[in-house]
Amino acid sequence: MIFPDVSLKEWLTKYDELEIEKGACNNCGKEMPTIKPFIEKDYVGLVSKNCLCDKNTNQAMTLIPISKKEIDYWNEFLNY
Ligand SMILES: [Zn+2]
Repeated sequence: MIFPDVSLKEWLTKYDELEIEKGACNNCGKEMPTIKPFIEKDYVGLVSKNCLCDKNTNQAMTLIPISKKEIDYWNEFLNY
């Protein structure tokens, strides 16, 4: 999983099918919104950060598939 250096706002503008989901910590039940942009193979998405209690063993995540063109763009951009 790669975390591009973009803001949440930029990410949501670029991939407007993505929506912030409200996950919940499986330890304390606090909301864990998906606010961290990531790229994984041929998907882009948003994943939650660790809960403040730091005892969550789950993560909330939402993702969408991206086109070959987008994959190539990111591959070049990130050079991996
Ligand atoms: Zn928690």
